Amino acid sequence: MVIRFVGGTVLTETGLVEGDVWVDGATVASIGPTAGSADETFDVSGMLVGPGLVDVHTHLRDPGQTWKEDLRSGSRAAAAGGYTAIVAMPNTEPAVDEAGLVGALEERARDEAAVTVAFASALTRGRQGEELVDFRALYDSGVRMFTDDGDWLADPDLVEQALEQTRRLPGAVVAQHAEDTAYGQGHVHAGSIAEKLGVEGSPSEAETQAVTRDLRIAERLGARLHIQHVSCARTVAAVQEARSEGVEVTMEVTPHHLDFDVSELEGGDTRFKMFPPLRERSDRDALRAALRRGVIDLVATDHAPHLEVEKDVPFVDAPRGVIGLETAASVVWGLVEDPELFFEVASLNPARLIGLGRHGLALAPGRPANLVVFDPSRRWVPSRFVSKSSNSPYLGRELQGRVVHTVHEGRLVHSLAEVAR
Ligand SMILES: [Zn+2]
Repeated sequence: MVIRFVGGTVLTETGLVEGDVWVDGATVASIGPTAGSADETFDVSGMLVGPGLVDVHTHLRDPGQTWKEDLRSGSRAAAAGGYTAIVAMPNTEPAVDEAGLVGALEERARDEAAVTVAFASALTRGRQGEELVDFRALYDSGVRMFTDDGDWLADPDLVEQALEQTRRLPGAVVAQHAEDTAYGQGHVHAGSIAEKLGVEGSPSEAETQAVTRDLRIAERLGARLHIQHVSCARTVAAVQEARSEGVEVTMEVTPHHLDFDVSELEGGDTRFKMFPPLRERSDRDALRAALRRGVIDLVATDHAPHLEVEKDVPFVDAPRGVIGLETAASVVWGLVEDPELFFEVASLNPARLIGLGRHGLALAPGRPANLVVFDPSRRWVPSRFVSKSSNSPYLGRELQGRVVHTVHEGRLVHSLAEVAR
């Protein structure tokens, strides 16, 4: 199968160039005004052609809660959002914490998934925070990210041992969901809105203190650490400071923390209930500035599907999380409006984080054909999703820029042109 994308702006190793992209089989065959015939030709003038997006923080709910999402639906939602690779979080039922389960999931992913799915493992057995997983066995089965996401691994001795062990596994990384529950288990950011809603609040300190503690351990061991979904200005500052002292630390931010603040929760809308919670306007602005300056390494969706009936309950009972795979590219584009930065934070850096060698590469002849075509000028209003869930704050909200085609290993796995046919 030969696919030709005509007239786009292409991200190559030497920067942006105007030209046609030819995909032949599973590789990029050439970039430029080459003549020839293709099985499929798409006019992509005015659009960006670059490496497929990579999400290092997706909840597929599989196994265990497949009414919300599964490998099939989640990977198709990813394709619709321009992603060619995603990392599935291990807080499933059962939790992904041993090599046998990873092997079984990888086999299913090869059959069922529309894009590449890498599986993260829990840090502790059953995500109980008590006994570490067998890092070596999981690493040998392909795992590169270890996280108890959903909970912070609080025990400093276990964090130390986990960092000690992953340090010896090239490319492996411990990722922490930073939320110290010693500060309570609030439902929204602590402050006037929590008071107005009459619910317990969660202060920024719960995150910043957790991160600061982990950075100290990482520094002492000379180990690599990744901080998941940072939500406030002081966390960014703490990470920056640690970096300046030589700590090898990366951080991610979600589209919703870049886009919204706690004021969205004024009316108790459960679509804005997520963890960490949306914080102050000043935090949101600091996250944006840090992303634009390259201080925050990457954007990750924290795609967290829940059914409408599950969210349509009293605020304190509503589950945390929003979906994000199908809207993230538009949200990020709206905030950066810079093609190179866009691909850096949504593709190159996330792929590098866990060493996904076939993804997150500027386009070049001979490279794997994992790519996305994004139209920055197209406005759209999300009205339904490929995901099984639609708990999105963007439902009915106009977005700027849209994913038009996604190619995974040379196969067109998403195309608005196909939808229109
Ligand atoms: Zn989390």
